[in-house]
Amino acid sequence: MNTAFLGMPSFPRNAEKALRDSQLRFNLRKATHTIRARRGAVVAELADWPELRAAGRAIKDDVLCNLDRYLLQAEEAVTRAGGKVHWASDAAEADRIVTDLVKATGETRVMKVKSMATQEIGLNEALEREGVTAYETDLAELIVQLGDDWPSHILVPAIHRNRSEIREIFLEHMAQWGRPAPDDLADDPRTLAEAARLHLRERFLSTNVGISGANFLIAETGTLVVLESEGNGRMCLTLPRTLISVVGIEKILPTWRDLEVFLQLLPRSSTGERMNPYTSMWTGATEGQEFHLVLLDNGRTTVLADEIGRQALRCIRCSACLNVCPVYERVGGHAYGSVYPGPIGAILTPQLRGMASELDASLPYASSLCGACYDVCPVAIDIPEVLVHMRSKAPHAPAERFGLGAAGWVLDRPVRLRGAQRVAGRLRGLVPKSHLPGPGAAWTATRDVPDVPAESFRDWWRRTQKGDERVGRPDHSESSEEVGGELA
Ligand code: SF4
Repeated sequence: MNTAFLGMPSFPRNAEKALRDSQLRFNLRKATHTIRARRGAVVAELADWPELRAAGRAIKDDVLCNLDRYLLQAEEAVTRAGGKVHWASDAAEADRIVTDLVKATGETRVMKVKSMATQEIGLNEALEREGVTAYETDLAELIVQLGDDWPSHILVPAIHRNRSEIREIFLEHMAQWGRPAPDDLADDPRTLAEAARLHLRERFLSTNVGISGANFLIAETGTLVVLESEGNGRMCLTLPRTLISVVGIEKILPTWRDLEVFLQLLPRSSTGERMNPYTSMWTGATEGQEFHLVLLDNGRTTVLADEIGRQALRCIRCSACLNVCPVYERVGGHAYGSVYPGPIGAILTPQLRGMASELDASLPYASSLCGACYDVCPVAIDIPEVLVHMRSKAPHAPAERFGLGAAGWVLDRPVRLRGAQRVAGRLRGLVPKSHLPGPGAAWTATRDVPDVPAESFRDWWRRTQKGDERVGRPDHSESSEEVGGELA
């Protein structure tokens, strides 16, 4: 488990801090709106997008229903192709397997392709504890690493940084990690990319161990697939003498034919491209390169056991749900306290980590339930449905249920509502004007407490509309139909 997020405050408190950062909000809005527009345009080009989406969902559901069979099939295929398969039940076991493999090579440096699974298990920190330095090679991950920062977006981990901030980070920190940035570094994208390219080239040529994740693992052949935009991943996959891939068990696709569906769904949903620039595939070991595959559970089988929550395992990490989420757009990824931010993080993190911490218990509430995430999800994960389901399992769900039950009881009968309004009107002097105590404190921290009127509308109507023969008639019935008629 990545310990970087342990002890973080709850989502609302993180969000409150993030909302005060106007530069962050500007960067996020600009980036998410750009990617969102690009996605919309390329998705609109495909008349069969709904069918592709349905196919993606069906393939992933088949995988989840038959995961045991497909995993064994993949293991057999990878082994047949000269690779070695390791099974990791949790983050600690995966970290131990990888650090042992690296130490066995005698190397003290590894290079990494961008990988969410290795971030999830805190692999860089585990390697560091064993005296091994991990070098990130994805441009955005490099920015995050040099800035001693955390990723805040699945696809664009440094989305919260603008060009001038990146320039400062390169000038200040590149030299500590290898080739320094030139003193006259400008902040235009081409110059920044060139500085990163020269810096990374040295790493590629001098590091003998590569660590990757994978977008897909094809069960029938044991082939791993990585989709990327920069070509750095391909260097990282092909140059080292030892390649270790850490892959979540849900990344399986049954056949090559299934890959066709996802090679259309993923680039359009993530970068808004018809196809991604680099698709690397490899099967087992190759001449001159040893290959290890670490299959990671780390809570996934627990998620699989939940009939509603398991759909989160269909996720292909495209990040489309982040780019349309009104909550994510305003607070960014750090507020979610996980490598999985945004709507998918709000349902996946509390399922993988449980809801024992204040932060994880608050994540299912990090949503307005507007449903935009479901609309864009290429594998049709009903994120709002899972959010509501997770809320019902949160530690404070019983108190919430009690509160809503009490409100339902009052609102169910007009006579009860009338009584409650009269009591509230008489006690209005006791209601604090600014902050409510107890459970209402969070609600009123950023809102004014509305005045409780001395007289309810219903009583005012009775008192002032005396000419109306229906008004003032004693209401002995508790029937809502009759009372509805009274007010008609
Ligand atoms: S939940 Fe859907 S939209 Fe969000 S990252 Fe996963 S696949 Fe993409």
